[in-house]
Amino acid sequence: MNTPYQIIVGLEVHVQLMTKTKLFCSCKTVFGAPPNSQVCPICLGMPGVLPVMNEQAFQLGLRAALALNCQIANFTKWDRKNYYYPDLPKNYQISQYDLPFSYEGYLDIDTSSGSRRIGIIRAHLEEDAGKSMHDESGRGGDSKVDLNRTGTPLLEIVSKPDIRSAEDAETYLRELRLLLREIGVSDCEMQEGSLRCDANVNIHILYSSDNGEEIAATPLVEIKNLNSIGSVGRAIQYEAERQYEAFQKDPKNYRFGKLLKTTAGWNEARGMTQVQRHKEEAADYRYFPDPDLVPVVVTAEQIEEVKRSLGELPSQQRTRLQAAPFSLSAYDAQVLTGQGRKMVAYFEEVAKISDPKSACNWLTNEVFASLKERSEEIDQFPIRAPQLGELINEMKQLGIKREKARDVYQKMLAENVDAKTAIDQLGYKPFDDNLLLDLIRKAIEGNRKAVLDYKKGNEKALDRVFGTVMRETKGMGRPDRIKQLLLEEVAKIEA
Ligand SMILES: [Zn+2]
Repeated sequence: MNTPYQIIVGLEVHVQLMTKTKLFCSCKTVFGAPPNSQVCPICLGMPGVLPVMNEQAFQLGLRAALALNCQIANFTKWDRKNYYYPDLPKNYQISQYDLPFSYEGYLDIDTSSGSRRIGIIRAHLEEDAGKSMHDESGRGGDSKVDLNRTGTPLLEIVSKPDIRSAEDAETYLRELRLLLREIGVSDCEMQEGSLRCDANVNIHILYSSDNGEEIAATPLVEIKNLNSIGSVGRAIQYEAERQYEAFQKDPKNYRFGKLLKTTAGWNEARGMTQVQRHKEEAADYRYFPDPDLVPVVVTAEQIEEVKRSLGELPSQQRTRLQAAPFSLSAYDAQVLTGQGRKMVAYFEEVAKISDPKSACNWLTNEVFASLKERSEEIDQFPIRAPQLGELINEMKQLGIKREKARDVYQKMLAENVDAKTAIDQLGYKPFDDNLLLDLIRKAIEGNRKAVLDYKKGNEKALDRVFGTVMRETKGMGRPDRIKQLLLEEVAKIEA
């Protein structure tokens, strides 16, 4: 511990599943539709209606749970979580309480201090509530409610309190987002609310008392409304420091665990948490099984089928890219994998034609920037993998320098031509030995004195001749070859 305390964090993440319709009715889930245009008696909570589970939502939940290495319950049921909110017309939310469909998993993350395994307590399905819209002008306008989101399928993923820093938390969220996008479970757009995160934060403090060294734990604070990965990190850091200050003011209060868990909001503008209320416990919600929905039974065959369809996951991809034949650094593997499967496939193709290190450098130095500039995905990029591989090979063979190679690349991109054509049109002709010898002989003629000085033992004198030849090739001659030929020519001259 560098600080006098250890940060302990568990994250609760809600992701909206990529289904076309809601969890228990056939209403659409399009983001940004006019308020209350995607509702029906079922999601409006009218009496007498019958909800029916969306099979696709369950399948997507299963995909996520298996990718998170969770155990799958072969029998799972639905529960009503009772509470009253203006944006919850049924007065209860359908969720999973004591029998979640998955539990006991983990997600491995790569942090700056090495690989860490974050445990997953459970992942369960539930329906979303609507949205209250308050008039914030201060002029006393009405509050309104939009129920489009009511009944949208959510997957709640609860981590163990294994997260030890703000950085860990951000890395975990980035990895989770990448994973869920790659396996087609959620788009995880935080601005649209399809990934939301609550952080449970407390700290353990080592302190000296009359009984010697003791560890005090501060009460949990659950921070809500975190709507970007960066704000999760900032909120955790702020809250840890705040809890430590509070402890120092009144250490006695913390010794007997008398303080209650609280809920706080994160104020991004002011960069601080604000306590909202004492947290309800499960008993306050009066959970009971939903009598309208049948329990779900999952078979071993279904689980095997979903596992087979997952494909290579980001952590497996990182491991593979660091091994032969690619042998990339952990950092490079992380950067490439972070761009998604399509980028990794493109990289592999370029690497097979050229070499992995050059392929990776070209992607991270040039292609990423081009994609951003052109707002394109890699599968729309006009320079296809074989062409980029060819450019890298030509560059090596002809001894084309980096800046010139970049010109070739830009021409390929702008005019949609292959590497050889672009090199030809730019007049970047390679200098073969005959052409080089011509230039070398001329340079020796023009620098007689320098050559004689060299012969007399002034090693440095030859640099001038070498420089002349290099200039003449305009960066298209290979320096090692020029040096070799020059030395051979000079050797023939009598002192
Ligand atoms: Zn509906």
